[in-house]
Amino acid sequence: MPRVTRRAFVEAAATMSGALHLVEPVHACAATSATVAARQPTEDPRPGATVMTVRGRVSAADVGMTLVHEHVLVDFVGADTVSPDRYDRDDAYRKALPHLRQVYGLGVRTLVECTPAYLGRDPQLLVRLSQATDLHIVTNTGYYGAADDRFVPAHAYDESARALADRWIAEWRDGIDGTEVRPGFMKIGVDPGPLSAIDRKLVEAAAITHAATGLAIASHTGDGVAAHEELDVLASRDIPLQAFIWVHAQSEKDIDVIRRAAQRGAWISLDGISASSADRHVELVLALADGGLLRQVLVSHDAGWYRVGEPDGGEYRPHDAMFTHVLPRLRERLGDAGVTQLLVDNPARALAIDSGRAR
Ligand SMILES: [Zn+2]
Repeated sequence: MPRVTRRAFVEAAATMSGALHLVEPVHACAATSATVAARQPTEDPRPGATVMTVRGRVSAADVGMTLVHEHVLVDFVGADTVSPDRYDRDDAYRKALPHLRQVYGLGVRTLVECTPAYLGRDPQLLVRLSQATDLHIVTNTGYYGAADDRFVPAHAYDESARALADRWIAEWRDGIDGTEVRPGFMKIGVDPGPLSAIDRKLVEAAAITHAATGLAIASHTGDGVAAHEELDVLASRDIPLQAFIWVHAQSEKDIDVIRRAAQRGAWISLDGISASSADRHVELVLALADGGLLRQVLVSHDAGWYRVGEPDGGEYRPHDAMFTHVLPRLRERLGDAGVTQLLVDNPARALAIDSGRAR
């Protein structure tokens, strides 16, 4: 596709969405979303930047509309017993497939699957779903230290941060669990601050891994105390704070604490969008946009998933509330360009692997 100037793109998108609203008001939301997704970022990310999907590397300019935090399968049984033997992969595939087809129909082209190792991360399932839907799916490496460490494997307590990082770097280099699937980012997690010893070790391991691979560090983080401590750990190791994604930032009550993290360089992931939380998400996005920080905001549902251990995988929450409850309101205030920034340009930049570091 020929490269166009940003202004030309914004004007074209505005014209097209205006026309769509006139022609087909009932479906305008979905149609406009598809229009946004079909366009490509122009200024960002940097030319040549790439994103690693479960089916290999793609140009960051091609990721299109992206949901940065979703799940297709989670098993909360705990690190000691979790295993793909606990479910039928075909069942999980059949359960997730219509939901991923739905988001593709809404214009989404990339879905970031945030289920970490020891919580049901399943690269084989993700490849099948990506092949069937044509969605780019991105998976992760790293360990999840939130939820009082129930999902931290025993070896993480005995090994050094360096040794843990070596395991994660090996997944990046060789593939996950004997597959050729490589992680596109790190997913770690910490409990509310101050950081415990194990949580601090996970952040240190993430810093080492980032320096070796260029992978972004998405961290499930309960509150601003923990988030700012994580940023301190990264800063002390000279990791650019743009590598850090504060997952679930919406759970911090003090907007100033969120704003300060963005001003330090972090990504602010507002990822629990549902019909009932839409007001809070719109308010937070607009507050950050008012502060000139829209370029560091990510939005998603944290929805899904096949629930291992529940009959028929339990209740799968669709990845769609944003399109009906949030985007129309944001489009009114931020325009098509602002929505494109949030759903196309920002995710592409957040996931772009730092080519200076990636090997
Ligand atoms: Zn999640």
